[in-house]
Amino acid sequence: MTTESGFTTALVHRDRRRTHSFGAVHQPVYPSVEYAFTDARELTAVFQGKAGYTYSRQGTPTTSALEDKLTHMEGGIATVSFATGMAALSAVFFTLLKAGDHIVSSHHIFGNTNSLLGTLADFGVSVSFVDATHVEAVESALQENTRMVFVESLANPGTQIPDMARIGRLCNDRNILFVLDGTLTTAWLLKGQTVGAALVVNSLSKLFGGHGNALGGAVTDTGCFNWEKYPNISASYRNGDPRGWGLKQVKKKGLRDMGGTLSSDAAHRLAAGVETLPLRMAQACHNALSLARTLQDHPRVQAVRYPGLLSHPQHERAKTLFGSHFGTLLAVELQQDIDVFDFLNRLDVFALATHLGDNRTLVLPVAHTIYHEMGAARRQEMGIADNLLRISVGIEDTRDLLDDFSQALDISE
Ligand SMILES: *Cc1c(COP(=O)(O)O)cnc(C)c1O
Repeated sequence: MTTESGFTTALVHRDRRRTHSFGAVHQPVYPSVEYAFTDARELTAVFQGKAGYTYSRQGTPTTSALEDKLTHMEGGIATVSFATGMAALSAVFFTLLKAGDHIVSSHHIFGNTNSLLGTLADFGVSVSFVDATHVEAVESALQENTRMVFVESLANPGTQIPDMARIGRLCNDRNILFVLDGTLTTAWLLKGQTVGAALVVNSLSKLFGGHGNALGGAVTDTGCFNWEKYPNISASYRNGDPRGWGLKQVKKKGLRDMGGTLSSDAAHRLAAGVETLPLRMAQACHNALSLARTLQDHPRVQAVRYPGLLSHPQHERAKTLFGSHFGTLLAVELQQDIDVFDFLNRLDVFALATHLGDNRTLVLPVAHTIYHEMGAARRQEMGIADNLLRISVGIEDTRDLLDDFSQALDISE
């Protein structure tokens, strides 16, 4: 494939051009658990690091094809796929950090990642949560033992956008690993490499696959980081090209040892889903902006948070980093006198469901669901009001979404 192909062209044609098998336009789905060899020397060579397959906990040709697509999308050097986004994040934190290390994390993060970082703290890694929309907050939290800074490119549900370019420079100056969860932007809106992120984590279950029919996750090395300077790479993985050291450790410890492996079936569904990512995202971003603009003036709406609105605190940053699209996630706070449950029950097109980046528009009252476990104090810190709705905007006809929200809102209680 020529490097000049556009983003969508590459997505649509990459599988058939990768390897030829009868002209199939999709990569084959390999269900095989083990891989048999006719030459014992070859078997040994693959065990010792030669490219190939031995046991599918460490991947199959189908997962490799998907990883290749992601690496290309991110403009990175390599990718390792996992069963879920959380498996990918767990692998990054548990294989690249050690007891005694310190990590700085944005406090505007996915609830389950927040909980995972709590588990990490139980294993002796200390965590500082900061407001990463200001690089100064990240910088002042750094310690001598800080190994990693973690942020999400677009926070769920508050839509905060960290000062990624400056955080990237700060981390690169100090040899700190900058890990970016790019799930809500995807490489279509932002390539982690352009802000100096060393590793980009993607939940493939969301926008990437898009159809709500497969879970998956991945870690991509962007090539920005010098692994020779990272103290936590085991001696056994400090060999060969240093650019590959980080992901080698993530793959061996995180996939082989921990076992959160993506199945070939799921990899196939995700690879087919991602072919339409740019089209789906363009429509969903358009819908989200239309909803945001309409709702911000509605008398029964307290506040709308969407990076495409002038009122969004990081609107200028969003324009610089993302261009002319602002994501598919919207946070809407209803007036306090509205019963949020009655309102939700009146919706027809919007599906009441958790999940993000689906073709269908999904809505959730976040304080009572995904942020219930963390308690009122931490919710207040994160700016999560009781009447806050998270809306993951889908690809429906714009008019249907606007009409449905209005009819549910305009009924007086
Ligand atoms: C959903 C999500 C994850 C976890 O992904 P799963 O595939 O559901 O495990 C991680 N980060 C962000 C930002 C997410 O939205």
